[in-house]
Amino acid sequence: MESTKFVLTEEEMPKSWYNINPDLPSPPAPILHPATKEPVEPAFLEVLFPKRFVAEAMSMERFIEIPEPVLDIYRTWRPTPLVRARRLEKALDTPAHIYYKYEGASPVGSHKANTALVQAFYGKEEGLDGFTTETGAGQWGSALSMACNFFDLECHVYMVRVSYDLKPYRRVLMHAYGAEVFPSPTDSTEFGRQVLAETPDTPGSLGIAISEAVEAAVKSNGRLKYSLGSVLNPVLMHQTIIGQEAIKQFEKAGEYPDVVIGCVGGGSNFGGFSFPFYYQNKVNGYNTRILAVEPQACPTLTRGLYAFDYGDTAKMAPIVKMHTLGHSFIPPAIHAGGLRYHGMAPHICALYDHNFIEAIATPQVGTFEAAIQFMQTEGILPAPESAHAIKAAIDEALVCKEEGVCKVIAFNLSGHGHFDLSSYQAYLQGDLEDYDYPEDKIKAAISQLPEIPEAIRLM
Ligand SMILES: *Cc1c(COP(=O)(O)O)cnc(C)c1O
Repeated sequence: MESTKFVLTEEEMPKSWYNINPDLPSPPAPILHPATKEPVEPAFLEVLFPKRFVAEAMSMERFIEIPEPVLDIYRTWRPTPLVRARRLEKALDTPAHIYYKYEGASPVGSHKANTALVQAFYGKEEGLDGFTTETGAGQWGSALSMACNFFDLECHVYMVRVSYDLKPYRRVLMHAYGAEVFPSPTDSTEFGRQVLAETPDTPGSLGIAISEAVEAAVKSNGRLKYSLGSVLNPVLMHQTIIGQEAIKQFEKAGEYPDVVIGCVGGGSNFGGFSFPFYYQNKVNGYNTRILAVEPQACPTLTRGLYAFDYGDTAKMAPIVKMHTLGHSFIPPAIHAGGLRYHGMAPHICALYDHNFIEAIATPQVGTFEAAIQFMQTEGILPAPESAHAIKAAIDEALVCKEEGVCKVIAFNLSGHGHFDLSSYQAYLQGDLEDYDYPEDKIKAAISQLPEIPEAIRLM
């Protein structure tokens, strides 16, 4: 009998994260202060983030131990399974072997719990009362709500108003974990009041919600800090348990992937899955292709500029060097809400810039088609974000069929779609469209990038 599911025991779970900092093709660009545009001191970041998190951002240690209290909670759902998608292979009639790593197995249904727990633990260790954060449709907000609940911390979530009103179920989930959830913009922050005065009917945006969460943390007299669910390297590093588990699971399967695939919003599930394979390529002589998949409606890597830009719309967050569509870029309201960020994790951009990874953009309707084909063969309803990775994996498998070659294809199934049924309903009713973002709009957004002195740009 051939195995379908490859599992690790709790003892086999990796005990440290892989930090890519020492293995980047070029030294990371400095993080700049949003007002002075000078490189920031750790003290600036420590007002926002837990000290241990800031230390991780600067660390050149290749492997960093996972704290025991975090491992204890990981064990309730980790190691997550690696599954051979045999019925999908059969439906595609492909000689390729397709595997997926299932991060939807976490209690909140996505990989985001992996870093939320770490950040909550660091906050508790430091004596904080709690965290502020933003959330779009609620995936990140629910992960942090669960983590704060486990470590007995307050959790203040600024949820984009349109999602707060139209997607109530993750809001209920956050409340049930004990979090406070505010529709953003609120009248409880200065920035929120300013936005409401100018545009009382605004649906809100992730950029506005980030700015409110940052303001609430900064004005809490050190009681609260801000928690970020993607983009910065410590977050990507916390996710590397995914790829490290997968490598051990492939040993059990007696195979090794020719290509690894992940969807990219801010880059955390993709980085977490693929960085350990990048390390294998670099240090152990493997030659795996690494493929990032983004939506055509928010084509950060494939069509954005590689430049310094603000992390948020209100220009309060630090400036980092990344592929960006401009901090003022507002992507269309596609259903993969988690992939609508204007920028991208700087470490992923550095690898892309040096051709260590590839990127493609997929259209919305075809991506939902792939999601349904996956669901009807493998049974799992994927998150619309994860469906981008599925679409790319299916396309790779069809190339194998055409060329008559057997390759091993692995993708990260970053989450399930049980809270995204209204999106599936829209797809099934034929209401979805593709958006190919017009070049002039991208050009206009990119023209608003901050001006950075040449001496710093070349650092
Ligand atoms: C948030 C989210 C993403 C996108 O975020 P990344 O940081 O790019 O991983 C992808 N998939 C799921 C299921 C998510 O919840």
